[in-house]
Amino acid sequence: MISYADEESLAKSTRGRQITNTESLEVLENMPRRSKMLFGVLTTDNKTMTENTPSKDRSRYNCKRYMFFLDEGAPEISHMCCNVMKKSPVHTYARKTGRKPITAQLACESRLRSQQWLRNGCNGFDMKNPISNPMAFWTEQDVLLYIYENHLPIASVYGDVVIDYEASGRIENQLTWEDLGLFELEKPVLKTTGCNRTGCVFCGFGCHLEKGQGRFERLKETHPQLYEYIMKSWEEGGLNYKEVIDWINEHGNLNIKY
Ligand code: SF4
Repeated sequence: MISYADEESLAKSTRGRQITNTESLEVLENMPRRSKMLFGVLTTDNKTMTENTPSKDRSRYNCKRYMFFLDEGAPEISHMCCNVMKKSPVHTYARKTGRKPITAQLACESRLRSQQWLRNGCNGFDMKNPISNPMAFWTEQDVLLYIYENHLPIASVYGDVVIDYEASGRIENQLTWEDLGLFELEKPVLKTTGCNRTGCVFCGFGCHLEKGQGRFERLKETHPQLYEYIMKSWEEGGLNYKEVIDWINEHGNLNIKY
């Protein structure tokens, strides 16, 4: 049973009534898996709804875990890079030209995005900065499936789109409903063989949560010169990542790999 979720945003109707009002959170539990992902209460890593639902007594951002960033000597960090590098230039361009952006943002990418989608729908005509997100109701798996079925070329950094046999609960070469032409009955879970998401090449967002090869380790293999540059100290003309990561690993008891 869900004890708490963002009831206010779930209860709001959306422009064009693309979502029906959800009066009881129990309704969420009986929704199809896809809808749960759109509501931001189920992630692709197969966690249960309860695990993904913030409780009243636990911050959804678990501030305590990251309190060491207030310690003396901590590197200065913030979320402002997105404003400086992405949002602000786009807003300036929109103001100058009168054009409005159309993006490929997905509601399931973050709680904020799913709340915005619930509030405004795919086309945020009434937003302070109007925006169209025609793919908002797609899930990440929808995108991968579309690429997979249509054999679309994608940027090399993502690798190939392949079936994730482990997540699909399948064994490779096993006969499936899909082989019998009943694909809809058993959609495989798909994954990319390279990066699964990309942002700025030096972005460290979420790097402490990576399993297997980390992004900086991958950068070392694929772009050794860039790797050298970010790891070098300020004095040597670099970005000082090595020192910063070492500090975070030591003080936060984390294991950011590089
Ligand atoms: S991708 Fe990472 S570094 Fe780039 S703007 Fe977003 S959070 Fe900042």
